[in-house]
Amino acid sequence: MEAQISINGSDYNKNFLLTSREGQSILREAKDSPLRPACKCTSPSPAMYISRRGGHWFLSRMPGSANEHTKDCRSHIVEFSCSDVGDDLPANEILQKLLETLASTPPEKKYWAALRDAVIQAASSIQVDGSALSKHLLVPEPFDLNSNERLTAEYDRFFATQSLDKDKQVRYWAFGLLKESVERQYSFQTSIKHMPSTKFWVHKDVARTFPTEVPDSAFVACLFSCRKVKSGIEVDEAATVVVGSDLSPVAQYAPPSDAQIVAARSALGLPQDLPAESVFGVLVRNCLAGGNSK
Ligand SMILES: [Zn+2]
Repeated sequence: MEAQISINGSDYNKNFLLTSREGQSILREAKDSPLRPACKCTSPSPAMYISRRGGHWFLSRMPGSANEHTKDCRSHIVEFSCSDVGDDLPANEILQKLLETLASTPPEKKYWAALRDAVIQAASSIQVDGSALSKHLLVPEPFDLNSNERLTAEYDRFFATQSLDKDKQVRYWAFGLLKESVERQYSFQTSIKHMPSTKFWVHKDVARTFPTEVPDSAFVACLFSCRKVKSGIEVDEAATVVVGSDLSPVAQYAPPSDAQIVAARSALGLPQDLPAESVFGVLVRNCLAGGNSK
């Protein structure tokens, strides 16, 4: 029998959630819910998490939780090693792990080339989707006008490889510092420092956790899971953390509450009927256009 999944108190067929339009929108809405979905194969029900890949929403078991599921549940796979730990993580947990690993061997210099080397080094010790994160991670080279065109084409090719990969479940990642993010019809058109000619399209649902406030001389580190599309790079999953100039996390960031959105509408003199998601878009744009975009 197909596993039942409990989401915010309601039970759903797992297949329905993964394959139907309605099920997909239930997963999308549940993504930011504080209560994790649970697999009902046994009691107590093991927690699951929701992630987005290739434009689809997926449900996965939590890392290391295979044995909490019953033997005939699809989420139970016998594992004899600890390869499950750190594998198949959602973007925000991977970013956190990457920054923690980096903090244990902090880069000596704070210019981008040194930070980039340190990030790639840290990523080589983190397992994601069955291989080292560094294998499918793009960290832009320091910007240089003369090589910009060549590098932009290289970055495009990197993400185009994802669709050629035999295993489409393997995620391809970009790590960098957010430079700019502007609301468009369905997505936030976003760019990362050092790669100004690459357009990242971040769907509004995915951009929901972008910071709207950053302290002076701090930056927004981002980790995007990406695919090449005609108009640029589409971001399936995004995680952000506010960091200092050495990439160490500086503050726990909470997205604005509804009340703060209402207050911002008046404070910024925005139209009273401007939808909350557009107010959020303005806050993100202003935040990145502030001191941080040097
Ligand atoms: Zn289960």
